[in-house]
Amino acid sequence: MKTKELVRLAHSFADPYCVTNGRKFRLKDMKPGDTGSLRAKDKDKAKQALELGIQTLADLQDKLYAQDNWGVLLIFQAMDAAGKDSAIKHVMSGINPQGCEVASFKAPSAEELDHDFLWRCQRHLPERGRIGIFNRSYYEEVLVVRVHEGLLAKQKIPKRLVDKRIWKNRFEDIAAFERYLHRNGILVRKFFLHVSHKEQKKRFLERLERPDKHWKFSATDARERQYWKDYMAAYEDMIRHTATKDSPWYVVPADSKWFTRIVVAAAVIDALASLKLRYPEVGREKMKELAAAKRELLAEK
Ligand code: ATP
Ligand code: MG
Repeated sequence: MKTKELVRLAHSFADPYCVTNGRKFRLKDMKPGDTGSLRAKDKDKAKQALELGIQTLADLQDKLYAQDNWGVLLIFQAMDAAGKDSAIKHVMSGINPQGCEVASFKAPSAEELDHDFLWRCQRHLPERGRIGIFNRSYYEEVLVVRVHEGLLAKQKIPKRLVDKRIWKNRFEDIAAFERYLHRNGILVRKFFLHVSHKEQKKRFLERLERPDKHWKFSATDARERQYWKDYMAAYEDMIRHTATKDSPWYVVPADSKWFTRIVVAAAVIDALASLKLRYPEVGREKMKELAAAKRELLAEK
């Protein structure tokens, strides 16, 4: 398949899940079990398509790196066991590690709490030519911190700055930050891996039953299930306020991991292709230099 066709196909896979204008967004319109036009029996074909996608991604990344103008930031947010880690692992498997950095953001350290909330993330922004992946991000500031307001108290923010407008203010600050990144040539794409309450339970039970998955289970994660509704409301509000044309959210169905990977890979291909990347053109002087070097090499005894 030609790259052009693949890029078109990628767009058709990713576009139904892309939110560029959050105003009318409703989470309940998005189904975690959706597999688009594919059925479970197409799984093997889907895997082959993913392989092709990964190859295309690698080619695009090579150009991104060579051109050295754009940076790309991919942000992953999800409830536990939605498959963030495995989506990152599979989709990025073909990529040159030199051009990619993954940063994971957990509960903030004492040092991190001594700074504004963007600080720790800013330090991991991708350089030009690179892909940066945030496994969780500053969006936790309007998710876990909103669901458990006690966390806000730990942030040492001056009391008079903490009032009921804080979440709206944070949305504004995040949107402004992402606009700034866009204007600086850092392309931002955000992924919410949308798993259902039922599927999460199934995956937690699997972690409890399979010795090779025991290490992944955390009782705290399971306890967070009781706040499910609050989390979903926080996710919906976050997407409503921060999905923009330049920094869209992809609400990716996450009950079928094979489909999640396809949509994420497709969205990243779509994003990179939109940059119209090219290898840098070599000027006349450089061409002369190359020709001279070739002559010298061929003349070697
Ligand atoms: P896994 O899939 O392995 O569970 P994970 O991303 O959930 O990966 P954890 O080690 O479970 O990693 O820790 C992440 C935890 O840190 C999450 O519960 C998340 O909500 C929390 N966290 C992240 N950022 C913040 C923040 N700014 N304030 C408070 N908690 C945060
Ligand atoms: Mg966890």
